Amino acid sequence: MIISLKKKIISKLKDLNYKIKYFFKIQRIPDIFDHINIETTSLCNLKCKFCAYDKRDFDIYPKSTMKIDMFNNIVNQSLNLGYRKIGLTPSTGDIFMDKNILEKLSLLDEKQNYEGYFFYTNFIPINHSQIEKILLKSKKLIKFGISIYGHDNVTFQKFCGGSENAYKRLIDNLNFLLKLCEKNPNIKYKFEIGQRTEKNFLLEENDSQLSSIIKQFKNKYKVFYTANSFYDNWGGLVNERDVRDLNIDLHTNEIKKYGSCSLIYSRMTIGANGLVNACACRDANFTLRLGKVENEKLKDIISLKNEKYKDLIERQEKNDFDDVCRSCSFYKSIYKNNYPTWILRNQKKNYLNLNETLKILQKR
Ligand code: SF4
Ligand code: SF4
Repeated sequence: MIISLKKKIISKLKDLNYKIKYFFKIQRIPDIFDHINIETTSLCNLKCKFCAYDKRDFDIYPKSTMKIDMFNNIVNQSLNLGYRKIGLTPSTGDIFMDKNILEKLSLLDEKQNYEGYFFYTNFIPINHSQIEKILLKSKKLIKFGISIYGHDNVTFQKFCGGSENAYKRLIDNLNFLLKLCEKNPNIKYKFEIGQRTEKNFLLEENDSQLSSIIKQFKNKYKVFYTANSFYDNWGGLVNERDVRDLNIDLHTNEIKKYGSCSLIYSRMTIGANGLVNACACRDANFTLRLGKVENEKLKDIISLKNEKYKDLIERQEKNDFDDVCRSCSFYKSIYKNNYPTWILRNQKKNYLNLNETLKILQKR
């Protein structure tokens, strides 16, 4: 009783703090030059029930893979604009569904004047030689993450719709990676594991083959590990019916939204078909599209001179949101102290206010 009252008071105080910051225009936008996302493919090998991949409208945002020339062109434009890192995780998809991914990574390895690239993968459509090549040879890989769905063969198939063979392939690739880590201790800090499974799951108390491998990564190599059973609704594309047999918490309640979402500044993406979208994370249909790199330069698209972008920012600041954002439970207000993506986790530097951010976007 006392704990629940305490929680309510804290929540009210946080809400008040949030409104005050919105009223006095105290913003906190993660440095927009930290990274930009380039989606090399929008294809996935899985159909996770909690994900928008197979629920997105393939007429509005079709399955495609980026041509190498377009990729090179976008990378060059991004680095010229001053972005320091390139994120390669598709909005929905897996980068290893791109048959030319190694060619693209080699190209990124040759580029100068930036920090490097990062991505998340489900670690299934990749083979041993690719794992070895990327981990041992890449000069510019900063970090990568492995998404694990479920915690054994049965829950894996239930969560992501993958086959038993896909599960075996995941186990085989993880075992291969373990061996690679044993032989090459210098690669151990480069990756993390994010597991999405049932409520109340405890890795330490589970003895499946998959759990035993993850425990080895955690214990021997101190791999950063997170387990999550709390899911968001992908801007309304995922609902309770989709996940009813998963034993998870799906956040479907409308959340209070004051001011613009930090993703539209700090988590921009260029889709596999060249569409530039203001949200890399939860707009699976690319409805916040700002332009197309085939028709315009990136500097003119991600710019205040682009009326579409200017209008999006102005409307969000007045709490007027597009459908996807209105329903979205992943929203990260610029008036709250949060980070919009895993790559920015624990980064204490380079937060800007809205005016500073708009000045950068105006100068382009
Ligand atoms: S969560 Fe990732 S792996 Fe699963 S369907 Fe979506 S994009 Fe594919
Ligand atoms: S509110 Fe949701 S869909 Fe809209 S920009 Fe933010 S994260 Fe993306």
